[in-house]
Amino acid sequence: MTKNTLRNEALERLDAEMSLRAYDVLTPETIQALAELRTDEGVFVSLYLDMTPQRLQEAQLPVRVKRLLDEAYKALEADAPQKNMLKDVKETFERIQTFFTDEFDLTGHHGQGLVLFAAPAIDVWQIYRLPVPVRDMVYVGDRPQIRTLVRIAEEFEPTGVIYIDRRDARLFRVFMGDIDEWAEERDDDVPGWHDQGGWSQARYQRHIEDHIERHFKKVAEDARRFFEQAPITRLILAGQEENTKAFEDFLPNDLRQKVVAHIPMEKKVRLREVLDRVLEVEQAIERQVEAERFQKWQDALYTGRGVEGLEATLQALNEKRVMLLLVAEGFVAPGAECTQCGWLTDEADLTTCALCGGALLRTDDVVELAIERAVEQADDIDVIRGDLRAKMLEEAGGIGAILRY
Ligand SMILES: [Zn+2]
Repeated sequence: MTKNTLRNEALERLDAEMSLRAYDVLTPETIQALAELRTDEGVFVSLYLDMTPQRLQEAQLPVRVKRLLDEAYKALEADAPQKNMLKDVKETFERIQTFFTDEFDLTGHHGQGLVLFAAPAIDVWQIYRLPVPVRDMVYVGDRPQIRTLVRIAEEFEPTGVIYIDRRDARLFRVFMGDIDEWAEERDDDVPGWHDQGGWSQARYQRHIEDHIERHFKKVAEDARRFFEQAPITRLILAGQEENTKAFEDFLPNDLRQKVVAHIPMEKKVRLREVLDRVLEVEQAIERQVEAERFQKWQDALYTGRGVEGLEATLQALNEKRVMLLLVAEGFVAPGAECTQCGWLTDEADLTTCALCGGALLRTDDVVELAIERAVEQADDIDVIRGDLRAKMLEEAGGIGAILRY
């Protein structure tokens, strides 16, 4: 397959992702499609902006963007690349500047950060809100800088929440700090406890239970439909425990397997609060998953199914053997990438590819390229942030992997 075909397929998938979904949230599928994008001509600009209220108060956003782009342009100029590249950069920067000066509406923005991807040559113009603050940064290259996104996304698995009680339900999906609610489901036919009339207690009890069962079945079916459109990897059941436990049995198998927690919740809870509760559960799970994977990796090193350190990890990525990549947060190292075959090396001063003899392009951060490569070939990537981060940096060279074979 040619480079062009691959790129077009990635673009098509990105378009499909954007149009199929009712939400403008970043999905794991979008990140995957972004990871495969390249420009053969023109430039790919990635702009990350800190959107915290404090930062927004310090300086007007268009002014900040201008300063950032001017600095980046000067740095590129000093590097003295080809003239036509500078021209592309200039045009793209101007378009971005115009956008932030004339079009961007801050009032509609809820997020701690923002990322803009712009590559006019291949018609890419995408903006995403980010749930956590990011440093102001601009990258210019032949592909999007998605490392920051991957780092954030990895902390936020797409998570479903089902609030359930005996007559109502609410369905939510949370990803990267955004929350969406489906329709509020109501089963008004459930009789109240007060209008028992002349029924015997036992008969009345059974009557109610039939209703509840029907209600639970309907919610389970709605949940199946909702989470088919908005895929999740984790599910939280919320409400009174007796209800969430009873409801769990009604879920289709694949959803039941995704249940990670039962949490107490009131029906009339605000979206913001649901979001906060989900993030709490998420973070506890992440720390636990991190510890488990770290141990699995240690075991893999012992049996020869794992690698540690930059050199060995890049080699494994070059051989497409990486199943799980682990990186200590903030780990950066120089290296080079083959412009012909994509071979990666941590030897930044090497000029020809050991594999195909092609020219190598030096990079200040080969770890970023390693993460991009892993998005394409690995099942998962774990950025180690918790207590294990220091250990990972000091004892394991900051990076490692569990191999497929
Ligand atoms: Zn090569």
